[in-house]
Amino acid sequence: MTRPQQARVLVIAGSDSGGGAGIQADIKTIAMLGGYAATAITAVTVQDTNGVHDVHAVPVSIIAAQIETVLADIGADAIKIGMLGSQAVIEAVAGALTDVAVPIVLDPVMIAKGGAHLLRPDAVEALTSLLVPMADVVTPNIVEAEALSGKKIRSPEDARDAGEAILGLGAKAVLVKGAHLKGDQISDWLVTPGRAKEWVDSRIATKHTHGTGCTLASALAVGLAQKMPFEQAAWRARDYVRQAILAAPGFGAGHGPLGHGW
Ligand code: PLP
Repeated sequence: MTRPQQARVLVIAGSDSGGGAGIQADIKTIAMLGGYAATAITAVTVQDTNGVHDVHAVPVSIIAAQIETVLADIGADAIKIGMLGSQAVIEAVAGALTDVAVPIVLDPVMIAKGGAHLLRPDAVEALTSLLVPMADVVTPNIVEAEALSGKKIRSPEDARDAGEAILGLGAKAVLVKGAHLKGDQISDWLVTPGRAKEWVDSRIATKHTHGTGCTLASALAVGLAQKMPFEQAAWRARDYVRQAILAAPGFGAGHGPLGHGW
């Protein structure tokens, strides 16, 4: 087993000035779980707990250069992909990762909780055709699972079916996050070839859930970088998110950040 501190995760994602989601959540999570985080920043968002106010896209060549430079010198034991923004960025990231042999966790970030588009709707097709097939695991929420699978999701069973459809696009595993469905229980599905496992939890009553998706995907990536068995890494990632929601500091007027460290 790789010593935990040696587990390198290269995060390809956007910056959240509010510190709740994006790169900031990724670095906190990876460090808390004992890994090493390097970053290729795709966009700088102007953001607080009320939402995304503006987005500055990083030039595509600089995104590719960040990935290539980090991989050539530091290396990585896992890759986490978050906000990409556009088709051109998806193409560049897919190109820069072509020869990478470590696990890839793809969080198919599309729309922020406040409604801002973090991926242009016309880029979904590039995501499904270029990056989903490269992913060891894709972690869509309900809205993202609908967009990737083309299926409407109204129940946990629909979410499982969408996960199976995304598996059919070439991903090795899909973790469909069910929190966007209404109800006191949240059901997440871990779908792998020939198997669908449901994890049900009671919903935590809180508005401070900003950054849960980024945190989950990073926690999963660091577990894989640490060579944890896949299901154990997914379980620990869900547990980390739950603890982080319970530890939320309550900052800001809107959807506040999670707590890291408790
Ligand atoms: N900002 C950035 C840079 C993100 O990557 C994400 C999500 O992945 C968000 C905002 C949205 O976070 P949330 O939907 O948890 O509010």
